[in-house]
Amino acid sequence: AKHKGKSAYARFTPEMTEVSHERLQMESHMRKALELGEFELFYQPIIETASGRLIGAEALLRWNNPAMGLVMPDRFIPLAEETGLIIPIGEWVIREACQAAMTWHAVTGLDNLSIAVNVSPRQFRDPGFTDAVMRALNTSGLRPESLELEITERLILDNSIETADILRQLDRSGIRLSVDDFGTGYSALSYLKSYPFDTLKIDKSFIQDVLNESGDASLVRAIINMAHSLGLTVIAEGVEQEAQSHFLKNEGCDYSQGYFYSRPLPEQDFMHWLETNHRA
Ligand code: C2E
Ligand code: CA
Ligand code: CA
Ligand code: CA
Repeated sequence: AKHKGKSAYARFTPEMTEVSHERLQMESHMRKALELGEFELFYQPIIETASGRLIGAEALLRWNNPAMGLVMPDRFIPLAEETGLIIPIGEWVIREACQAAMTWHAVTGLDNLSIAVNVSPRQFRDPGFTDAVMRALNTSGLRPESLELEITERLILDNSIETADILRQLDRSGIRLSVDDFGTGYSALSYLKSYPFDTLKIDKSFIQDVLNESGDASLVRAIINMAHSLGLTVIAEGVEQEAQSHFLKNEGCDYSQGYFYSRPLPEQDFMHWLETNHRA
């Protein structure tokens, strides 16, 4: 008991107080950031591997803070998820992304460009989630087929009835669904058969080692073949080198995304990229 007491006491160090103070500060900054319009979406092109044709983009969240500069999602999304702030932030992301896609359609005439949006588990499980998605589609006028929701393998693996219900509801409305970070969830693959996914995104950790002697080439080949036999489309993420894109082309990977094609770009730069690279 004595030992227990001591370790309980030892948990409250000055460093810990500082950490939680920093967290509280970060949380209140994030709350204000939404009101102040400090969040911004960057867009990364998604390319048809065989033809090099643009098919759409993935929206990636950034936080422009006057004091901290451009903050990357890995630094604030976990806290937003924990505090529930991801729900209003995520709603903003979906609204903004749908609007942006409508703008590209209007400006370029490429009205089949799709927009992919990341959905975090907390946001997905919020009872208002599907309504928020439908509202964003209605308000923007974007066709449901042009919206793709990216859901991580980890979320799917919780195996709950609600997860399955929400996925079916979204699927019935025509929205496309993809499995993000495929291969990182230590999964039984059976969920791919039972849920209405359209797309599988191979995690970039596999793509990055595809040309090394790590066995990832055969793994990626096997994933592509398995996905195709289940009727799923495959996107490779994290394509950085031309040689990787050749490999993926040879293996029949449908779509590719990565620095080799383009980094994620602010909306204006993405529009510019669109106009110079892919006019209708
Ligand atoms: P993710 O969904 O797996 O997104 C892909 C990440 O890989 C992005 O990092 C992207 O910038 C990066 N990336 C793209 N091409 C390459 C490449 O060729 N090489 C390498 N090394 N990296 C590449 P980013 O933008 O920092 O986003 C990190 C994660 O944050 C995302 O991973 C996603 O899980 C999450 N995230 C981003 N935006 C949102 C959002 O709006 N909502 C939610 N819930 N999560 C988001
Ligand atoms: Ca993603
Ligand atoms: Ca579907
Ligand atoms: Ca990923």
